[in-house]
Amino acid sequence: YYNEKSTVYLNGYWLPVKEAQTNLYSQTLHYGSGVFEGIRSYATEDGVRIFKAKEHFERLKYSAEKMHIKLDLSVEELTQLSYELLERNNLTNAYLRPLVYLGENMSLQPTEEVNVFLCTWEWGKYLGDDLLKVMTSSYQRPNPKSCHVEAKVVGHYTNSILATTEAKQKGFDEALLLDMNENVAEGPGANFFYEKDEVLYTAPLGNILPGITRQTIFELAEKLEYEVVEKFFTPEEVYNADGAFFTGTAAEVAGIDSLDNHKFKLEWEDTMGCQLARAYRRRVCQNEYQQFDLV
Ligand code: PMP
Repeated sequence: YYNEKSTVYLNGYWLPVKEAQTNLYSQTLHYGSGVFEGIRSYATEDGVRIFKAKEHFERLKYSAEKMHIKLDLSVEELTQLSYELLERNNLTNAYLRPLVYLGENMSLQPTEEVNVFLCTWEWGKYLGDDLLKVMTSSYQRPNPKSCHVEAKVVGHYTNSILATTEAKQKGFDEALLLDMNENVAEGPGANFFYEKDEVLYTAPLGNILPGITRQTIFELAEKLEYEVVEKFFTPEEVYNADGAFFTGTAAEVAGIDSLDNHKFKLEWEDTMGCQLARAYRRRVCQNEYQQFDLV
């Protein structure tokens, strides 16, 4: 993720990563009470562009607010710092990781000391290019009455790590987690869509992270005149699907081969998901939505 030349931003300073230090009594390190984002930048026709920076930093500010963390930097300031971070690291096609973590405090109340850390690295497609063999996880997503599932909180990712580890240990590529009512929610780090008789289905908001890529898929589907339905559904409904895919900033649009060894009917190339993956690629490499030519 870094080398001797990597520069990071920490609390107002640009530092070589080796010189950046943190307090081992950080509340976030002990209890997971920080918030973060996962963002990508792309080399576009008009230079490097951070895809949906505003939406990502608005979500970061929302997550901070839900966790009672005072994040003073504005969306605009965070965006500017991110462009500078890319420039200082000489990166264009990159992944950006803002992390807001709390300072020294061993109590269970939010501390006043808030640290802002930004780093970036080159990252290939998070889930790879091959179609994924997915299993229904034995772990459920956190109950929205237990925490703010719609916020991107550090500690929530212990659930994602457990589900991913279980899936890998059982020989699958990725997990699919259910919500507390046993309906399909999302992957450990991506939202989920399936396709049946030329209609796309995805879980409604409530028990999932409101993915920015998920929203982009809605926009692209509208352009392509694809119908998308938000509804609750079970893994059994997915077994009969024609195709399925994950969406996320890191994963982008990742095609799925099977769920619990039930292979989807269509070849990936013949699915709406494949068309959306291509449209997504074009979308992120263009600057203006208006310029976006799907034909
Ligand atoms: N769900 C979870 C649990 C995630 O971690 C992510 C990645 N941030 C997503 C969905 C997809 O969100 P986005 O499209 O905003 O990256």
